[in-house]
Amino acid sequence: MLTPFQRVMVAIELKESDYVPVVPMVTYTTAQLIGIQFSEGLYSAEKMAKALVAGYKSAGYDGIYVGWESSFNLMAEAMGCKLRIQPNSVAFVKDQLVKEPSDLDRISVADPERDGRLPIHLKAIELVKEKIGSDAPIFKYVPGPLTLASVLHGQDQLLMELVRNPDFVYDILKPASESSKLYGVATVEHGADIAVVADPIASSSVISPQMFDQFAFSPTKDVLKSISDVGGIPSLHICGNTIPILERMADTGARILELDYKVDLTLAKDMVGERVCIQGNIDPVGVLLNGKPSHVERKSRECIEKAAKGGGFILSSGCEVPLNAPFENVKAMVSAAKRYGKYPILI
Ligand SMILES: [Zn+2]
Repeated sequence: MLTPFQRVMVAIELKESDYVPVVPMVTYTTAQLIGIQFSEGLYSAEKMAKALVAGYKSAGYDGIYVGWESSFNLMAEAMGCKLRIQPNSVAFVKDQLVKEPSDLDRISVADPERDGRLPIHLKAIELVKEKIGSDAPIFKYVPGPLTLASVLHGQDQLLMELVRNPDFVYDILKPASESSKLYGVATVEHGADIAVVADPIASSSVISPQMFDQFAFSPTKDVLKSISDVGGIPSLHICGNTIPILERMADTGARILELDYKVDLTLAKDMVGERVCIQGNIDPVGVLLNGKPSHVERKSRECIEKAAKGGGFILSSGCEVPLNAPFENVKAMVSAAKRYGKYPILI
């Protein structure tokens, strides 16, 4: 038997291990395990770490996502945005920092050791590492520059500016990219093994593949490179349908591509499976929030059948597991990996 850490590393090296590794994107869903409200984890590295470790111990997955909310909101706050925080639902940004070009000087590059609640997240990485040692890898989300820019300027407005005023978009992207890079490096320096750049706006469900190339590709590649330059494993998470940009995602230098449930894993494996490890992709809402454990198990088996053969696959959710998803469903994913994911896969 390999350790969870070894199991994930073998997958990243595109080889077969003992079992298909399983790392659901679970963070604040673990609040239910230690009886705290969502908002309590926002301000306490100790509570956050306690809940995350409880999730890992209870379900036995192969890696831990350290975090508690959207990395975009977290970073936007550190760059000067105000958040609306409620006890039991995910926070959102109250007001856009940059409404027009003359507001650009309101943005400052965030210092991860000082600004907003970024230091709480860095501390939580250390606390989780203290508890689990090198048994399992720590994953940490880092905001993708284009999506971060969309939070600073407003999503609908930014999508319009992609066409109307590309130079303004590049001006917002500069401090956004710099903040993401510094944070990505800091997460690795504080103990994260895998830093995952998340960029939902870059999805082909939102912008064209041409716009992906024009606005998302280079800044994302730069952030991923800064992560690998300090010894972290760079991963890339883009939600929705990403088949039209899958080859380009593999070109960014990411070692793992986190794929959403809209992506057919057979096709994805065929397209990029020899270049990069694939992670995914059970429907977070339709299956993990609203389904029963038997439903989760069936879907997990399908993912394994489509993408695990030959290695280079991590079973996971397609995106963040929702706050109120029953933890039994997370456990069902883990038990399916043990039941159907023993290598060699014989299907
Ligand atoms: Zn996602």
